Amino acid sequence: MRIVIARNEVTKQSILLAVAFFAVFSFAHKTDSLFVPPRPEKPLRYCEAAEKWIEYATHNPKLVEITDMEGIRMDLRYATFNNVTGHDMYCGIQRAFIHKDGLPKLKRVLSIIAKELPGYSLVIFDAARPMYAQAVLKQSVAGTPYSHFVSSGKTGGLHNYGLALDLGLADSTGNLLDMGADFDSFERCAGIVGEADALKSGRLTQQQIDNRNLLRKIMKRAGWVMLPSEWWHFNAFTRAYTKEHYPLFPM
Ligand SMILES: [Zn+2]
Repeated sequence: MRIVIARNEVTKQSILLAVAFFAVFSFAHKTDSLFVPPRPEKPLRYCEAAEKWIEYATHNPKLVEITDMEGIRMDLRYATFNNVTGHDMYCGIQRAFIHKDGLPKLKRVLSIIAKELPGYSLVIFDAARPMYAQAVLKQSVAGTPYSHFVSSGKTGGLHNYGLALDLGLADSTGNLLDMGADFDSFERCAGIVGEADALKSGRLTQQQIDNRNLLRKIMKRAGWVMLPSEWWHFNAFTRAYTKEHYPLFPM
């Protein structure tokens, strides 16, 4: 009888261990592996839509163009084929806009950088984003476990109000600071939530995390809210506040 109980205990323990191991393994698999959405068979350039967007943005008094601001450099990845969708959604047009209510916060960032990191610049990956681009982005991850990373193409995210920025920092020689994961990476280590584990496993170095923290500190001091899953993304206001007080772009 005692032997049977002991055997049952051993079996129970083995099952629990197996379940725990599987849970840890599948969690790690889902969040730490490098997911790259499949490349489109026919990469597209959204030129007609992009031109309409520029027309809209330049005539909307609530939007401000930030392309040529001192201390800012354009690297709009959606204006190239080198982005998660594989499409050139902005037809090569390297022009960026934000809502005018976000402008004072951006100016604050630039003045902190000018004073404390002379020669450094902000590198803009994306700013105000038209809804058609949001829909293409959503489409590129549809049906994958990463779908929730991208805001809906219908209800939008803060980029679709002109109140979010995707950006990096370049040093005085013009080199982008190494953040250890590319813009729009779906890896867990792309955000602050995965950094401690990534440091332990060697996926990220302390220098890469320090570089992210430098950017975060400056953005936070200027009033921007970071996203825990993406080192490059910052919101001017909270999601709830934005949705209550601002209209979504009509296109
Ligand atoms: Zn973003």
